[in-house]
Amino acid sequence: MSNCIFCKIANKEIPSQFIYEDDIMIIIKDINPQAKLHYLAIPKAHYDNIVDLSNRAPETLNHMFNVIAKEKDNLGLQNGMRVITNLGEDGCQSVPHIHIHLLGGEKLSEKMG
Ligand code: 5GP
Ligand code: ZN
Repeated sequence: MSNCIFCKIANKEIPSQFIYEDDIMIIIKDINPQAKLHYLAIPKAHYDNIVDLSNRAPETLNHMFNVIAKEKDNLGLQNGMRVITNLGEDGCQSVPHIHIHLLGGEKLSEKMG
């Protein structure tokens, strides 16, 4: 996807600080944090959304959750986190490249929406 901001961040066309990187994915800090800690886990390859990723590359989705589990202490999320992925118009997905929000570092509201 030539004009996709998360493709550009993942392939380093746009400089960004990677909190974590491997061949398959990156973790960055959200530019507009909605909690004390707010990260985005993003696959390097382009998938439009969680359904597209799950259909076309379930092993990547599985890898992402393995990394999230492995890196949670390094991320400051050892006490838990909220894991969100927005989907489509009603879900207010604003960047059409799948990204998994990881929110925590504090006790979050019991309400989600
Ligand atoms: P969505 O609304 O699609 O679920 O989430 C997109 C998220 O990406 C938002 O939380 C927004 O703050 C974040 N975001 C958008 N552009 C950038 C960027 O260039 N860098 C970073 N680090 N986060 C971004
Ligand atoms: Zn993309």
